[in-house]
Amino acid sequence: MKTVAFCTLGCRLNFAETSTISRYFIERGFTVVPFSQKADFYVLNSCSVTSNANRKGRNAVARAHSLNPDAIIIVTGCYAQLKPDEVAALPGVKYVFGVNNKSEIENIIDNAEKLQEVSVSTTPHNDMKTFVPAFSKGDRTRAFLKIQDGCDYFCAYCTIPYARGRSRNQSIATCVEQVKSLAQDGMKEVIISGVNIGDFGKTTGETFCDLLKALVKVDGIDRFRIGSVEPDLLTDEIIEFVASEPKMMPHFHIPLQSGCDELLKLIGRRYDTALYRHKIELVKKLIPDAFIGIDLIVGVNGETPEIFDKTVDFVNSLDISFIHQFQYSEREGTRALKFTPRVTAKQKQERADVIKSICERKHREFVEKNLGSERSVLFESAKKGGMMFGYTDNYIRVTVPYDRSLVNRICRVHLSEMIDEEVVKAKFCEI
Ligand code: SF4
Repeated sequence: MKTVAFCTLGCRLNFAETSTISRYFIERGFTVVPFSQKADFYVLNSCSVTSNANRKGRNAVARAHSLNPDAIIIVTGCYAQLKPDEVAALPGVKYVFGVNNKSEIENIIDNAEKLQEVSVSTTPHNDMKTFVPAFSKGDRTRAFLKIQDGCDYFCAYCTIPYARGRSRNQSIATCVEQVKSLAQDGMKEVIISGVNIGDFGKTTGETFCDLLKALVKVDGIDRFRIGSVEPDLLTDEIIEFVASEPKMMPHFHIPLQSGCDELLKLIGRRYDTALYRHKIELVKKLIPDAFIGIDLIVGVNGETPEIFDKTVDFVNSLDISFIHQFQYSEREGTRALKFTPRVTAKQKQERADVIKSICERKHREFVEKNLGSERSVLFESAKKGGMMFGYTDNYIRVTVPYDRSLVNRICRVHLSEMIDEEVVKAKFCEI
């Protein structure tokens, strides 16, 4: 029996797609083994959001090649799409392709051993119009469902529109069918994922809010979480719907990137700080205990010390729960390459440290506010040190002593104390 090993870098979408690719291999009789083991095939689903992501991709290929120099190494994802020749030149790589659709993968599986030369097939971003469905089943308690792909925003620092193509989506009817099948598989929670999910409906004449309204009607799935939604696309109607619908988790991820209007405009974001503040305040007014995660880019070309200070003041003034920050890295073909001043590596690190400490404080404050309250938790299958874990509806990680009968069950718990920055000890209210 042939073996295949997978490595996924980057976003949730890549994880959903890797999961889908793995099912195609399994259908053809393959056994999946860990990426740290010798395998006949290795599949890397790569990321290219920073130069560090590219480096991690190269390291993963080198690891696979050293584990089995005769293995067929397949690289897909954003790094493969953006730098196909660079990837194809890595020792051991046999296939490089950007769009990972079913027929392409089946063709690779069936013909790989006959292939003499490296096969490179990528698609220009303007031609990338096909929607390739994907979902992952994680630990069989929650699934990531890809509802949308690509992006038309072309922010000045970002290569994703070049790697993933134009914004496109599958229909509400297809999403509903997929969620029904996830419910039949026993999943309890679905995380709605994509590149720019607020843009859902562009290719089908539907809206993201109508999608949510249709999904919550599916029996069997008790929880839906929304992935990252651009502030200008997070309509008040969506926020009001999440506030009124018990199946929608009180959890938002709203990219900010900068707290300075001048910089937001320069980098091509489609909102200002006033609009952003309105969204945060509306969420907190309607759902006071909602978790709000935000994204910040640190050290983008053009970010002067004064601009960074404005971001710090703005972020400090917001009632948020977490900051996902990433340090800017220059990406070929983007407008931000021309912006000045350039931020040195040392300045970037200093700014990243400031944001990290704000994040730690905001997250701690958010969790502390919830201590003593009762929340619902979906328990996962993993066991560590005799304990099991899960997330509350408002995305606080909790732990209780392991009990197999609780896996994939939603229980009411009382949040008692913080064990560390990440995890809260809980007691059951009822089982
Ligand atoms: S919205 Fe901007 S940052 Fe997000 S994927 Fe699109 S271009 Fe990139």
